[in-house]
Amino acid sequence: DAELAAEGDEELEVRPPVVTVMGHVDHGKTRLLDAIRNTKVVEGEHGGITQHIGAYQIQHVHEDSTRAITFIDTPGHEAFTAMRARGAKVTDIAVLVVAADDGVMPQTVEALNHAQAANVPIVVAVNKMDKEGANPDKVKGQLTEYGLVPEEYGGDTMFVHVSALQGVGIDDLLEAVLLTADAALDMRANPNKDARGIAIEANLDRGRGAVATVLVQSGTLNVGDTIVAGTAHGRVRAMFDENGDIVTKAEPSRPVQVLGLSNVPRAGDTFFVTDDERTARQIAEKREAADRNAALAKRRKRISLEDFDQAVAEGKVDTLNLILKGDVSGAVEALEDSLLKIDVGEGVQLRVIHRGVGAITQNDVNLATVDNAIIIGFNVKPAERVADLAEREGVDMRFYSVIYAAIDDIELALKGMLKPEYEEVQLGTAEVREVFRSSKFGNIAGSIVRSGIIRRNTRARVLRDGKVIGDNLSVDSLKRFKDDATEVRTDFECGIGLGSFNDVKEGDTIETFEMREKPRV
Ligand code: GDP
Repeated sequence: DAELAAEGDEELEVRPPVVTVMGHVDHGKTRLLDAIRNTKVVEGEHGGITQHIGAYQIQHVHEDSTRAITFIDTPGHEAFTAMRARGAKVTDIAVLVVAADDGVMPQTVEALNHAQAANVPIVVAVNKMDKEGANPDKVKGQLTEYGLVPEEYGGDTMFVHVSALQGVGIDDLLEAVLLTADAALDMRANPNKDARGIAIEANLDRGRGAVATVLVQSGTLNVGDTIVAGTAHGRVRAMFDENGDIVTKAEPSRPVQVLGLSNVPRAGDTFFVTDDERTARQIAEKREAADRNAALAKRRKRISLEDFDQAVAEGKVDTLNLILKGDVSGAVEALEDSLLKIDVGEGVQLRVIHRGVGAITQNDVNLATVDNAIIIGFNVKPAERVADLAEREGVDMRFYSVIYAAIDDIELALKGMLKPEYEEVQLGTAEVREVFRSSKFGNIAGSIVRSGIIRRNTRARVLRDGKVIGDNLSVDSLKRFKDDATEVRTDFECGIGLGSFNDVKEGDTIETFEMREKPRV
């Protein structure tokens, strides 16, 4: 709000409220979101072929004027909580769906707790009014105990009777959302500046690259803007609305699908416009480094197979929790049987907390995070995004294609004898053409990349006539002309700084590599 105050009233314009639909499972959240969307989204050029982009905007005729409302199209409070956990405030109003026949259930209470904790006003949609056992008065009585007091009892919470199934009460609900927004909130933003907002969902599309749905919160996003979204950056190449139609700009509260980012941001990541692509890239890289450090800190807290025995000795754990995933159920069962036969020693136990057939999923990683478990993949691998999540969360994942290898590792770990094995993986080589002296960075080797990729912050050695003349070095700086670069590919020229190593000469070869944990198979 300090931001609002600083802007001066004349710049502020009314923006649509942003709404999240929450409530107990099966109370009709998805159905309600669909019903609102189907009756209210203005048809696009594609004639009613809507796309799921994670949010949509509707137009509602309200006292002779038409007003827009944005709905976040991922039902449930998990998305809401995930975004909030990342410090993002997306929602202005929460619609709490309660089935009139079921009444208040545990997740109803959870949802309203989340909304209240975030200071988000609630409108109650008493759903399934078409059902025989519908009892809206009971719902009202129950929710009063949680501080949601209907207007007829002297409170200020609006309750609306709806049937998502029959599409009844939708207009009343939208009316209630607008009234609640007008009464409780300052729904204004300045559209005349660079855009800021939040990423709502994103995925990697084979043909289109990173596809992200973002919600603009202030300013206007234009095609051609450069943005940073979390650790992703890039120039907005194209934007689409919920109908799949091309748009060229997006004003406050408008969700749009954006193409052109370098990679996939996470739900809840903030985005903003930068002056140029270079600034965007630098900010993204800084954020990535910060993320890596955070992941390292987390990793130190989590159990890995290597330090399991140590953790037992220090009294930090007595149970090794495992999640087993395999390509076929027979393999998973065989693996579990063999694992449970391992002699684990006194006071220590092995526990398989989850098993399943198929790729390692985000859910597996989340479970591993919560229960401090190790994931064993037998002939299966995680998708790239899942591997990234595991990396960030510091979850130990191990891959095997032979059951005995898995058993061996775990037995060794239980005896404290498992040491990680590392292997060197060549990344690229460069030939030094000319050496520049720089007082600030040490000598810079003006080079041409001869094979692979030269990447910043990787290990390096220098060879002269086939002999190693400098080892244990690292690529401390990497430049393309005057600009910092993360990586430079074969046949391109670059400037390589190797920290305090200053003996490099024209004709030398710089070899870069990475140490990777050796896969156990
Ligand atoms: P969610 O888990 O909260 O997203 O619930 P869904 O939207 O998936 O709905 C759960 C079930 O309730 C589905 O079988 C819906 O068809 C049904 N349902 C949802 N809304 C209504 C309603 O207004 N009336 C009736 N009779 N059934 C409904």
